[in-house]
Amino acid sequence: MKINTKLIHAGLHADPSTGAIMTPIYQTSSYAQKALGAEAKYYYGRTQNPTRDALQQNLAAIENAQHCYCFSSGMAAIDTVMRLLNPEDEVLVNNDLYGGTYRILKNVFLRYGIKFHFIDMREPANILPFINKNTKMLWLESPTNPMLNIMDIEAIGKITKAHNIFFCIDNTFASPYLQQPLDLGATIVVHSITKYLGGHSDVVMGAVLCNNDELAEQMRFLQGAVGAIPGPQDCFLTLRGIKTLHVRMERHCENAAAVAQFLRQHNKVAKVYWPGFKDHPNHAIAVRQMSDFGGMVSFTLKEDTVEAAAKVLARVKIFTLAESLGGVESLIGHPPTTTHFSVPRAERIKVGIVDSMIRLSVGIEDIDDLLEDLEYALG
Ligand SMILES: *Cc1c(COP(=O)(O)O)cnc(C)c1O
Repeated sequence: MKINTKLIHAGLHADPSTGAIMTPIYQTSSYAQKALGAEAKYYYGRTQNPTRDALQQNLAAIENAQHCYCFSSGMAAIDTVMRLLNPEDEVLVNNDLYGGTYRILKNVFLRYGIKFHFIDMREPANILPFINKNTKMLWLESPTNPMLNIMDIEAIGKITKAHNIFFCIDNTFASPYLQQPLDLGATIVVHSITKYLGGHSDVVMGAVLCNNDELAEQMRFLQGAVGAIPGPQDCFLTLRGIKTLHVRMERHCENAAAVAQFLRQHNKVAKVYWPGFKDHPNHAIAVRQMSDFGGMVSFTLKEDTVEAAAKVLARVKIFTLAESLGGVESLIGHPPTTTHFSVPRAERIKVGIVDSMIRLSVGIEDIDDLLEDLEYALG
């Protein structure tokens, strides 16, 4: 089955009691048992829920995974993966990372005696000097936030396989529609469903997917034992959102391409970051491992100040100043003072996040209106 069909049908069945086409919202904390000690599929709402099951099966099919477990947020999903580690384990992490992930590694898991090495993985060979007998996991995002750097997933997968290291990818920015990392050698895929998968800015949720039965059993155990589960209503909303992932992503990509080209020729703009440009450093890798270039575009201004960026943010009318990304509506943000505020200024400038950097999550509105909005805002 092709992905466009899987998004709508995979893992889903008409409700056996009524024939309802849409998966019902099983809003229950417990299930009646036939007799003491009798085998049942459902016992208690933390460990099993039919709406959640349907979503997990649907997501697994889309990512070409055998197993999927959903959590109450993207961070809860990441937290669960990190719980696979033991004190003294070492983790290789790409140095261009979602702020919340950086925070949980530094402020939570470092205290548990786990060591993290932050590495520029745009060149896969950079990883090699950091591998030792304690190296247990490699954590990667591609494309990254907000620089939209691209990592070679297949090449890194060969290295992790040779050294028996779990290879985890946060696939939030690409979504399974544009990139399927398990097919390229990843062991575990993590999503913030809050973004493109949910797609309508109305759900906070996360997922972990893998093909390894033993890891899946640990995930299943942690999901029930730790208990950071999503509610059935949110599972329903996500199932509904996923049904249009393909049409949304196509429009996100098309609009982002037009916005990137527009910004690049604008006389107030210094640099535009978007993996679709032929001169993007890892453009060829993006072409190989992604089916399109995604809906995110970042850019900097010739007048490189926070004030100049603030002026643009204040003048937009359709783009909304807000955190998050991946919804149908266009959002605009300023990484230096928000998501990357805790990174020391010198560090952030070194990786390219200068004072005037603006990040766009390009929505699926009419492109003419989006370009007009940016033209006016750049004034
Ligand atoms: C938003 C985000 C997360 C965290 O997900 P939440 O659903 O907000 O907890 C993790 N990784 C990336 C890349 C994200 O964009």
